Amino acid sequence: MITSLLAVMLSVSSMFSSPDLPYIVVLGIAQDGGYPQAGCEKNCCKPAWNDPSKKRFVTSLALVDPASKKWWLFEATPDLRDQLQLFREITQQQFDVLPAGVFLTHGHIGHYSGLMEFGREVMGTKRCPSM
Ligand SMILES: [Zn+2]
Ligand SMILES: [Zn+2]
Repeated sequence: MITSLLAVMLSVSSMFSSPDLPYIVVLGIAQDGGYPQAGCEKNCCKPAWNDPSKKRFVTSLALVDPASKKWWLFEATPDLRDQLQLFREITQQQFDVLPAGVFLTHGHIGHYSGLMEFGREVMGTKRCPSM
């Protein structure tokens, strides 16, 4: 697994010269609560409350395989709605809206709470395996 992840990471640098190689899209970098965090009025979050351009989505990655036209999502964050849209924009709608699978690395809210968006009240998905 580590070897294959390393191979994917190395291929990112050559994604523009080899369009069929897998690559990663960073969809978020903040801790579980995002940035700024709910209710935080301290100096850590003030800049983001005052300047929306400083807001950051919760940590998430998309693993993209152009050869198979599939992609996988790492983490289902509270920002999943916006991150799916961001992925669509970055990849110019070349892939399904739904990932082929979702990897959840651990049980903090920043990593699973976005699963609710796949439910019948929103996307109504029938088959999106989570691991
Ligand atoms: Zn803060
Ligand atoms: Zn966490």
